[in-house]
Amino acid sequence: MILSHITKQYRGTRALDDLSLDIEEGKITAVLGESGAGKTTLLSCIMGLLPFEGEIDGVSGKKPKRRKDCSYLFQDALLLPNLTAEENIAFVLPTGMGERIKEMLARVGLEGKENAYPHELSGGEKQRVSIARAFLYPHTLLLMDEPFSSLDLALKRSLMELVRKLREEEGGTVLFVTHDVQEAAFLAERALVLHRGKLIGDLPIAAPQPRDFLSPPEEARELARILLDSGEIK
Ligand code: ADP
Repeated sequence: MILSHITKQYRGTRALDDLSLDIEEGKITAVLGESGAGKTTLLSCIMGLLPFEGEIDGVSGKKPKRRKDCSYLFQDALLLPNLTAEENIAFVLPTGMGERIKEMLARVGLEGKENAYPHELSGGEKQRVSIARAFLYPHTLLLMDEPFSSLDLALKRSLMELVRKLREEEGGTVLFVTHDVQEAAFLAERALVLHRGKLIGDLPIAAPQPRDFLSPPEEARELARILLDSGEIK
């Protein structure tokens, strides 16, 4: 996917500033940046939720259309409270996928919880349901916006490893927004750094998978340095 000269201006704020970049197919690309850098705005433009100046794959952003070929994973699991785990997934899929849903729920560690309602699941289990749903929904691009940010460390490691493994088995292109260098260094094959709507870093992360959560690849230091150099104390 090629993003060319994307500018997004809110009233008074230039959230994306003439941003050009490519998202390589079949890779996990992280977008790192401090709060307010423009990460979520970038995802919204890609999702077709906001008009913007510039083009994505040659298509102008002036009259955006919501993309149907994207799957999402957000910080909040976004489950409907009156549907079971299985029904929450079936809700977004074509009919007749019951067996595949059961199989995927087992792969994410929720065997036996198919008929549980969200209030009967822990925070981690709810996020497992949303991970299962994100991978089952037919997509060409998986967009992840800080899905691990609110988790405690053990759960974060466990769910990041789950996403890594599913992505390895299923393949596909992933765009992963995070403010956390350790998360980017654990999952991504390439990290982009945003600052005030501009690209200030673009680093391949070549370390083989699976990676050790406690010993991040050396690129993590370089990413932290780029972020710290750009940072301002507010
Ligand atoms: P990030 O996801 O990196 O924290 P955002 O994309 O949410 O950054 O925000 C980028 C900038 O745009 C910030 O300065 C933010 O205050 C501003 N912004 C985001 N959404 C809106 C909006 N709906 N209206 C006005 N300003 C916004």
